[in-house]
Amino acid sequence: MRRTHFDDDNLAFGEAFRTFIDKEMLPHYLDWERAGIAPREVFTAAGAQGFLGMQLPEQYGGGGTGDFRFNQILGEQIMLAGVGGAGLGISLHNDICLPYFLHYCTQEQQQRWLGGIASGELITAVAMTEPGAGSDLAGIRTSAVADGTDLIVNGAKTFITNGINADLVITAVRTSAERHKGLSLVVLERGMPGFERGRNLDKVGLHSQDTAELSFTDVRVPAANVLGEIGRGFEYLVSNLPQERVSIAIAGVAGARAALNWTIDYVRSRKAFGNSIGSLQNTRFVLAELATEVDIAQTYVDRCVTGLAAGELTVEDAAKAKWWCTELQGRAVDKCLQLHGGYGYMLEYPIARAYADARVTRIYGGATEIMKEIIGRSLKLG
Ligand SMILES: Cc1cc2nc3c(=O)[nH]c(=O)nc-3n(C[C@H](O)[C@H](O)[C@H](O)COP(=O)(O)OP(=O)(O)OC[C@H]3O[C@@H](n4cnc5c(N)ncnc54)[C@H](O)[C@@H]3O)c2cc1C
Repeated sequence: MRRTHFDDDNLAFGEAFRTFIDKEMLPHYLDWERAGIAPREVFTAAGAQGFLGMQLPEQYGGGGTGDFRFNQILGEQIMLAGVGGAGLGISLHNDICLPYFLHYCTQEQQQRWLGGIASGELITAVAMTEPGAGSDLAGIRTSAVADGTDLIVNGAKTFITNGINADLVITAVRTSAERHKGLSLVVLERGMPGFERGRNLDKVGLHSQDTAELSFTDVRVPAANVLGEIGRGFEYLVSNLPQERVSIAIAGVAGARAALNWTIDYVRSRKAFGNSIGSLQNTRFVLAELATEVDIAQTYVDRCVTGLAAGELTVEDAAKAKWWCTELQGRAVDKCLQLHGGYGYMLEYPIARAYADARVTRIYGGATEIMKEIIGRSLKLG
C-alpha cells in the first residue's frame, strides 16, 4: 500500500537528514555507544543544517512550521539507520522539550533561549521523574520555596535523558502542597550554584544516550526562569504528553520496521541445511506477521500525527499509539533477533543493539500499564 502521508518537502527533509546521519552520526556511532554519550557537537551540527527547532519561529533560526511530519520523518530516519541511542536526544529536544519553550516562554525568555535551542548551542531536557515518583507524576517532592521573587529549589531527579549534555532543564517542582495545583515548571540552567549532575547511568541499552541523575541543593532560581504560571505545571505537563507519546510511538513503529528490514536482508543470505533461512516457512510466517503489524500500526500513527497538527489528538488516542507501537517494537526486535541466530546476540549487529534499546520504550513516557489505565478510564466502566 502506497504511503501518502508525507509531502515532497517532508520527504526531501528526510533524505537530507539521512545524509546527515550517514555523514555525521554513523561513522562515530559505536564510539559514542562505548563512551556512553554523544558529543554536544552533534546538536550544533544538526542545528546548523536545520534539523533542530523546526517549530520555532524563523526569527530565532527555527523552521517556522507547525507541521509535525518534519519531526516524524527525523524520528523515523534515526530508527531506520540504527542510531536510536544518540538520536533520542535530538528527538527529545525537538519533540518533547521544545513545545514548553514555544508555548510558555515570555518574550524575554524567548530572546534568551530560542536561538540557542534552534542552533543546538542550548541542549534541553525535561526532568519530571524522581527517585520516589515516576508514574505518579503528582507525587513529586522537589520543592521550590519563594524567597522574595526568587525560588529556592531542593530535591533530586533521576533517569533524565540528555541529563549530562543539557544546558536548560525544564524541571517540575512543588510550589505548594496541593497535589496537582502545587506543581510548577522552572528552567534550571547549566552552572547555577547548587545544581549538580550525578552519574551518567549505566543502562541496558541506549548506550550513546546520556541519562543522568540531577540534584538540587538550595538552587536560587530567579522569577525570570519560571516557565508559564506558578501552579500550572501539572496542566502543562499533561497537555504536552500526547505529543511526547506520539513521538515515542513514531520511533516504535520505525524501530519495528528497521528490525524487519535488517532481518529480511539477513535471512535472504544466511544458509542452513542447504537453503536460505528465508525459504523456511517459519521465517516467512514470522516476517509476514510483522510486516502486516508494522503497516497497520503505521497507518494509526500517521493518523495521530495528522490529528496532532489539527489539535484533535486526544490523550487516549496518544496512549493507544504509545502502548501498541512500543509493544510491537518489543515483539519485532525479539522475533527478528531470533532469526539472526547467534549473530543477533552480538552487539556489532544493529538488531542486538535495537533489542536492548527497545526495552525501555514500554516504560518511559508513561509505562504500558499507565497507558491502559488512561484508555480504560475513558471507557467509563464504573
Ligand atoms: C532510559 C530512560 C530515560 C528516561 N528519560 C526521562 C526523562 O527525560 N525525563 C523524565 O522525567 N523521566 C524520564 N524517565 C523516567 C520514566 O518516565 C519513568 O521511569 C517511568 O515513567 C516509570 O516510572 P518509575 O520508573 O518510577 O516506575 P514506577 O512508577 O515505580 O512503576 C513501576 C511499575 O509499576 C507499574 N505501575 C505504576 N503505577 C501503576 C498503576 N497505577 N497501575 C498499574 N501499574 C502501575 C508501572 O507501569 C511499572 O510497570 C526515563 C526512564 C528511562 C529508563
